[in-house]
Amino acid sequence: MIFLSLHKVNAVVIKTMEFKENDKLVWLYTDKFGKITAIAKGARKSKSKYLSITLPLCYGEYVLFKGKNLYNLQEGKIINSFQGLLNNLDKLTYSSYICELIDICVEEGETNQNLFKSFLTCMYLLNTDALDYELLIRSFEIKLLKETGYGLNLDSCSICKKNIGVSNYISLSNYGGVCEECPREHGIYISKPAYNSIKFLLKTPMDKIYKLNINDDVRRDIRKITTFIISSNYSKKPKSLEMLNYIKE
Ligand SMILES: [Zn+2]
Repeated sequence: MIFLSLHKVNAVVIKTMEFKENDKLVWLYTDKFGKITAIAKGARKSKSKYLSITLPLCYGEYVLFKGKNLYNLQEGKIINSFQGLLNNLDKLTYSSYICELIDICVEEGETNQNLFKSFLTCMYLLNTDALDYELLIRSFEIKLLKETGYGLNLDSCSICKKNIGVSNYISLSNYGGVCEECPREHGIYISKPAYNSIKFLLKTPMDKIYKLNINDDVRRDIRKITTFIISSNYSKKPKSLEMLNYIKE
């Protein structure tokens, strides 16, 4: 007799794909195992119990067992379907974008509780009407960079390590500010308010970022930095980013 070991995880569906005749492949971002791929057998049959729990953006409690290559979805319970995000183009684009970021920037099976929490917080905040969504996305990007090894250091010069209060230049090869004396190469000039805003976003929990009030120029500068680092460091460039920037132009 074979005993299957079942795992219970909390997870968000970040991507799905039709598989074979009736099945569905589901990419789950989980609290316990990081990003995993699971097969939901028969999920595309009209009466499948998996129908609603395998919709993109759905957050739920899932029970899985590990097969030879993939996890098998056994059952699930919705915690928040987040389907309200589908009714607003901005929210839909932003939530698709953060799912795509997890898909691109996180290795399968790599657990990171901090990143999972930030991701979930970002989904919940996108689902409210209380926040500046664009700033929320920048805050998530900055946290994601930090958790995946590309964290920005803006407190000291990334070349000579001298403490700096503020700078107008960020090195994109050293991921940090550059002081007045050091050579300015492979980087981007940004305004001092933008520099300080990134510093603020680095240190501030997502639900407190509403305290930051910035104009469009500063927003553009911050976006330039995060977009550049994200598009040049991971294996793929996020596609929804172009859609996102198009909306904002
Ligand atoms: Zn320096």
